[in-house]
Amino acid sequence: MSTRLDGRKKDDLRPIKIELGVVKSAAGSCYLEWGKNTVVATVHGPRPMFPKHLSNSQRAVVDYRYRMAPFSVSDRKSPVPGKRDKEISLVSGFALESVIMTEKFPNTVINVNTLILSADAGTRVAALTAASLACADAGLPMKGLVSAVAIGRANGDLIYDLTKDEEDAPDAVDTAIAITMPQKEIALLQMDGFVNKDDWKKMVSMGFSAAEKVYALQKNALLEKYPVNGDINE
Ligand code: ADP
Repeated sequence: MSTRLDGRKKDDLRPIKIELGVVKSAAGSCYLEWGKNTVVATVHGPRPMFPKHLSNSQRAVVDYRYRMAPFSVSDRKSPVPGKRDKEISLVSGFALESVIMTEKFPNTVINVNTLILSADAGTRVAALTAASLACADAGLPMKGLVSAVAIGRANGDLIYDLTKDEEDAPDAVDTAIAITMPQKEIALLQMDGFVNKDDWKKMVSMGFSAAEKVYALQKNALLEKYPVNGDINE
């Protein structure tokens, strides 16, 4: 198996480090390092929705925001949210909503803010992985976690967890996949590039196995801060 520019094998993820409860003013928070990506996720609420006409009488609304800090990339990123930030926020919110028991908090809003401090591809999946942990840290009732990862192709190989250099390869395909755990259902799937059917099937199955690795790290981080007897799934 050939090695990649950063020395990883095709199926290696970049190193992931997780810290919970880093923002004391938030109900829950998470700092996550994923290779050269760093992200902070915070959760506030549930709190009454304002303005009221945006509320839902059946459930809480999850207001998810994905933002990149101006200093997160070498060219200054405008702090004004663009189309990309808004699209990522919307679909990530849908993914996260699928594991939160929003029906327990009608007429409220749960604010989830994710800020990318440094970016090297795969930031939306890093943010979602961190956001799901921040929700757990906030003590929100949840059916599970969202474990997200990027899968793709670069220089002819199907690989896990692409760096920015790999994403810029001429034949690059980049797929963001988020899986609900332990249910193992796809909560988000986005693809950039073209791929044949066989490779697509392989990539989805790679996504599931990579998400398991992410989930194991998420569980470890939660168990470290909130020790329980037995498995977290029980
Ligand atoms: P993701 O970070 O989820 O992979 P993209 O594929 O859109 O999302 O972006 C890949 C990478 O490109 C980002 O992680 C970041 O390093 C860089 N990037 C994205 N948007 C910008 C931007 N507006 N300015 C500079 N670099 C950017």
